[in-house]
Amino acid sequence: MRLDKFLVNQGFGSRKEVQKLIKAGIVYVNDVPVKDPSFHIDPNTDVVEIEGQEVEYKENYYFMLNKPKGYITATYDENYPTVMDLFSAEPIVNKLFPIGRLDIDTEGLLIITSDGVLAHRLSHPKWNVEKEYFVIVEGDVSDIDFSKYEKEGIYLKKDKYKTKPFKVNVLKTSFEESELLITITEGKYHIIKKIMYALDHEVKYLKRVRIGPLTLDEDLDVGEYRELTEEEIELLK
Ligand code: URA
Repeated sequence: MRLDKFLVNQGFGSRKEVQKLIKAGIVYVNDVPVKDPSFHIDPNTDVVEIEGQEVEYKENYYFMLNKPKGYITATYDENYPTVMDLFSAEPIVNKLFPIGRLDIDTEGLLIITSDGVLAHRLSHPKWNVEKEYFVIVEGDVSDIDFSKYEKEGIYLKKDKYKTKPFKVNVLKTSFEESELLITITEGKYHIIKKIMYALDHEVKYLKRVRIGPLTLDEDLDVGEYRELTEEEIELLK
């Protein structure tokens, strides 16, 4: 790979900007200064340094975000901030995108990556990836027999659509409100809200806590993110 392309890929600026860096003589390959932007390197074996700092080579980037309310899950929106605005400090922000979608008023686990193959795998219905949500709904749910929905899903009249089977674990219930954990395997628009609406309980709060084997890190405050570990990335693949 050309040295200038490598540095662009790693987020050091545009082709023009990194060529300037290289020509300034501050880029070293295996301890030797290289001033030729077209110089070829092997990103897996050659050590590239800028002013003594090693440039870590990554083919792709993976983050977990604890999405806050008020942000759209998209790379661009005319009216609202997007989840990508939270990544503006990352040099490779232009390569990143969210996998799947959470509503503007939903919080919780969102994977942000540059890896299109992973995005496709996690979003494709045939893989049946589980998504678990912590949900607060209006009213008491103790009269609902959720076990039947585990076998056959529920028919959503308005959408003329039968959901896939889903699991509900009631954590707390009272006259005022109930707390549930709901696990689904599909990514239909507003699916949790629609399921609970069909059962006459409006959703007041929604937070995704798990995608397949990946659980939201409890140390991440709303609006914070961190890189996935190598082990977490492997689990998702
Ligand atoms: N279901 C919803 O209703 N909203 C979300 O954001 C995710 C799942």
